[in-house]
Amino acid sequence: MKTVMLPFLGKTPLLAAALGLFALVGFATQPAAAEERAKDLFGAKKLPAATSAQSIGFYSKGCFAGGVAIPMDGPTWEVMRPSRNRRWGHPTMIAVIEKLSRDAAADGWPGLLIGDISQPRGGPMMTGHASHQIGLDADIWLTPMPSHPLSMAQRESMSATLMVDEKTHLVKDALWTPAHTRLLKRAASYSQVERILVNPGIKKKLCDTVKGDRSWLRKVRPFWGHDYHFHMRIGCQPGSPGCKAQEATPDDDGCGKPLAWWFTQEPWRPNKNPDAPKARDLMTMANLPRECRAVLDAPAPASAEAATYHGGGAPVAVAPEPEAPSLPATAASGTAGLPSAVNAFTATPEIGAPLPRPRPPGN
Ligand SMILES: [Zn+2]
Repeated sequence: MKTVMLPFLGKTPLLAAALGLFALVGFATQPAAAEERAKDLFGAKKLPAATSAQSIGFYSKGCFAGGVAIPMDGPTWEVMRPSRNRRWGHPTMIAVIEKLSRDAAADGWPGLLIGDISQPRGGPMMTGHASHQIGLDADIWLTPMPSHPLSMAQRESMSATLMVDEKTHLVKDALWTPAHTRLLKRAASYSQVERILVNPGIKKKLCDTVKGDRSWLRKVRPFWGHDYHFHMRIGCQPGSPGCKAQEATPDDDGCGKPLAWWFTQEPWRPNKNPDAPKARDLMTMANLPRECRAVLDAPAPASAEAATYHGGGAPVAVAPEPEAPSLPATAASGTAGLPSAVNAFTATPEIGAPLPRPRPPGN
């Protein structure tokens, strides 16, 4: 297997990897400017922190290091809204997306249009999304990849298909297909995926139509928005001791009472104070985990390409990480082919966005 060395590492990859993030935390001795808005600082970062992969904090309050980018184009995906530079995630997140794109294509979904994942170092964003901060969330359009390649200009301007009637909150039956259901089922089948957020109308459509195995419906959770894309969230990954897990979803299919609530008036009452600042507008570095300052200060790889994930399901060399256990083999989990451990320091084999809608905080 031919391997490439990331330029940032020079000739000391082992030392650099061993230093890792823990060492970098130690260097962040200058007093943090607590009043600085975190979204300005993280929003300004064009490249990831070149350390071992690590998610820090919670989905809606955190950051991550060692992020990798999904290539702008793959055989079975295209990145939308490329100018936003939100195609970054934890290496496992990127590997899961790539795998989903291949499996979905085999299931008859032509390919994925990929919306926002995370900023290069995560953190709160200037626009949209309360979550997507630790590299473990991704938005995927409910519009299949067109047969002709989209130009960069088209990826900025093309609209996604609104799948739900905004008055009734029900799926538009003329648009929903069995392929949509298969895509969500496939995403939910991966052990890494803990939650899939969809509009309540889409959840109801699944509840009403899925026959046979319904166990996967447990992971599909109704939420505001998510009517032109779905949101795929994976769990905290090994090597991220500071990653805060979310509550487990209940064991049942979620088609009963909790879903019925979404079809009452209550969730749709107009926001009494629509101009109130959102959490992301107020968050300072003092509100984020302390390690996020070190993530901001960490060196960057030489280029985005140097930190672009070209896994393609092939095994990769693993950089030693004394502090971090490596990912267990995933052969039995339905995601065979994911790398056992990857990060921005790992030599990779040489191969080969949705429109944010205003929504209540907390997604
Ligand atoms: Zn999302």
